[in-house]
Amino acid sequence: MKYVVFSIDIEDWFQVENLKNRIQYHEWGLKESRIDESTRVVLEILKRRNIRATFFILGWIAERKPALVKEIASQGHEIASHGYKHELLHKIDDSTVESDIRKSVEILRPLSRSKIVGYRAPSFSITKTATGVLKAMNFAYDASLNDFQFNRRYGKIATYDRTSRTDGEAVSWTILENDLIEFPISVNTYLTIYWPLGGGYFRLSPMWFIRKQLRDIFRKSDIVSIYLHPWEFDPGQPRLKSLSANYYFRHYYGLGKTADKIDNLIKLVKNFPDVKIKTFGEMAKILARRV
Ligand SMILES: [Zn+2]
Repeated sequence: MKYVVFSIDIEDWFQVENLKNRIQYHEWGLKESRIDESTRVVLEILKRRNIRATFFILGWIAERKPALVKEIASQGHEIASHGYKHELLHKIDDSTVESDIRKSVEILRPLSRSKIVGYRAPSFSITKTATGVLKAMNFAYDASLNDFQFNRRYGKIATYDRTSRTDGEAVSWTILENDLIEFPISVNTYLTIYWPLGGGYFRLSPMWFIRKQLRDIFRKSDIVSIYLHPWEFDPGQPRLKSLSANYYFRHYYGLGKTADKIDNLIKLVKNFPDVKIKTFGEMAKILARRV
């Protein structure tokens, strides 16, 4: 049996790391929020295809949009934490990491019908300290490890023997030394580059390549996970002309095609034999029974 997990990181267009030196935290409240509309585009696709996903929700958003969180939960999706303030974990001290995660859980818990058991670090900036905090707070899993080598924001934690992955093997889950389950972002290696399935990598990749990537990962891995953000479905979002060409390209490329591409991908996944679509929370329970 193979499993596929769709995950959505809930943050507004102006909270993205690539825009941070143009829009700072204290300015967030002044910006036009588009999270309701863009999240509903995602919810509509998931509903039409009858699948459930894991939503890693930023506490700052949940505090201001409780009805949206309840709507996501009422459609059967898993509510998980994306922290509160979206600060890179390796740039803040240990007690701030802990209070950021704790604050997000305090906001999300009453809005969700079930316990918050999963976490994704802002910009995949996971640290060993943070995994310790998650374990102490009774989280079941973290889903923050991204092996793409050329983004310095991505965190590194010792999990498994990385040398065993030089053939492009896609490790789909691992147990950390403190017993927390880690679900890395699905990657496959092309020309020595670990290419993730999701986000800007997904928008950059043509559909024929995504099909190939999915088949390649499926061959080596029993869990495939795919991540996106609601702003990636929103071509009408405000455009910051003052961004560097690099960040402009990475943030705005392919926004108009995301909805059709993910819909195609879901159809494709559903046509694979012996594939089940689960949330990370459900996967954590399945794995807990296995080990
Ligand atoms: Zn994020």
